[in-house]
Amino acid sequence: MHRSLLETYKLTDYPFRINWEITRVCNFSCPYCVNRQGESDAIQYVFNPDEIAEFFNRTGQQWLILITGGEPFVYPRFAEVCRELTRNHYIQITSNLSHPDVVFFSEQVDPGKVFLISASFHATERRSEKLRNEFIERCILLKNKGFNVLINYIAHPDTFKQLDEDIQHFTNLGFGCFTLALRGRVNGLNYPESYTSEQWDIINKYALDTDIEKKAAYGNLNFYGRYCQAGKYYFFMKPDGSVSRCATLQKSCGNLFEGSFTPGPEIRPCIAINCYDVYCGLAALSGKKASLFAIHSEKKRYSKSSCLGCR
Ligand code: SF4
Ligand code: SF4
Repeated sequence: MHRSLLETYKLTDYPFRINWEITRVCNFSCPYCVNRQGESDAIQYVFNPDEIAEFFNRTGQQWLILITGGEPFVYPRFAEVCRELTRNHYIQITSNLSHPDVVFFSEQVDPGKVFLISASFHATERRSEKLRNEFIERCILLKNKGFNVLINYIAHPDTFKQLDEDIQHFTNLGFGCFTLALRGRVNGLNYPESYTSEQWDIINKYALDTDIEKKAAYGNLNFYGRYCQAGKYYFFMKPDGSVSRCATLQKSCGNLFEGSFTPGPEIRPCIAINCYDVYCGLAALSGKKASLFAIHSEKKRYSKSSCLGCR
């Protein structure tokens, strides 16, 4: 288990955090993709790098912007978006590193303003030696430029034979590396339910946190009734700029691109029975349990149609 990585990369060092799904488009087509990315919503919400930076600047806060997708590098002029955002803010990027602009990014962006590059290794999409080497070379390029690169290894059932060896290889090259369990249907079987106990042993060996990984995979990450900073200090944003309390609880906090983003006035209880925000959600949690009255009041704020996972 690689819990020490959670201590090294502490989201809580950054008071204002926003998880921005910049696009749902991706240049890979992993069959297990939770986003089910498609061309239909391709590049609908595109602003230039200066405009995007200004949307964040006018909030008056310094943000840690956690950029996910889809694949962030397919967003037009993405390296320049990052360069402009990092003039006043910090970023994290989750990427498969397959886009050629990764090289341009490494030349344009100050590594000191990049909290982390979470490099996703999809072994099934990188079966050939050439594609595997491309991934490793880009990780090394970024590392040599001073970026923090952490490799996440998707535990696809077809890749267990090589997983140990691959992770050892990445580790020998000086990279932190951890496993992520799948949630979805692969080869006609549902995962995580179909992982064998041997496969779970391997996942657990490299997971950031075994307990959290298993609960997240099974949809049992339950913080119901505990106070959570989501909605006041942590948020989720869709490609169109609409902001919600978190990825799980889609209570609107306005739209950052339209200038109507408004953080909540106070820290409120979580009312979801499964937190899809996983490590971001954990970082936003306070230890305190809310009263039944506070939980009831929070539930009243949500309409049935806008809430995921309430009870
Ligand atoms: S790389 Fe990520 S976003 Fe792209 S298809 Fe695969 S799982 Fe989905
Ligand atoms: S614990 Fe997770 S689901 Fe609950 S409010 Fe926080 S981020 Fe949202």
